[in-house]
Amino acid sequence: MKAANDVSGRCLCGAVTLQLALASLDVDSCHCSMCRRWSGGPCFALEHEGPVIVTGEDHINIYHSSEWADRAFCKTCGTSLYWRLRGSDYYTISAGLFDAATDYHFKKQIFIDEKPAFYDFANDTEKLTGAEVIAAFAAGASES
Ligand SMILES: [Zn+2]
Ligand SMILES: [Zn+2]
Repeated sequence: MKAANDVSGRCLCGAVTLQLALASLDVDSCHCSMCRRWSGGPCFALEHEGPVIVTGEDHINIYHSSEWADRAFCKTCGTSLYWRLRGSDYYTISAGLFDAATDYHFKKQIFIDEKPAFYDFANDTEKLTGAEVIAAFAAGASES
């Protein structure tokens, strides 16, 4: 296991805070059409598997965005909080919630095949298509 990074983040209005120990500060960006609608653009998120300490839980609304995943947001200010594989402790947590941003490393871009043509990130990152992401997920699920 890599060293844990204890971070705490919050939504725009501060009604919801999240505390967790990240395995790394690698940030991924997702270009899929759902994330772009959810966050207003490509979303930046940190992968996390494990417990999340939430305060202000009654301010969170959960949107069942697909058969296998939920997306959480603050009812008061609308901040996109996290995407969660339903029934698991696997999350991708919005990178913008945390002040640790100076230490982030932009690692990969996913659903690159759904990226609109009007923007391109200059960062040199891994790039995965939607099909590659789903295949990697399926492989990971059968290992555990
Ligand atoms: Zn809020
Ligand atoms: Zn996405």
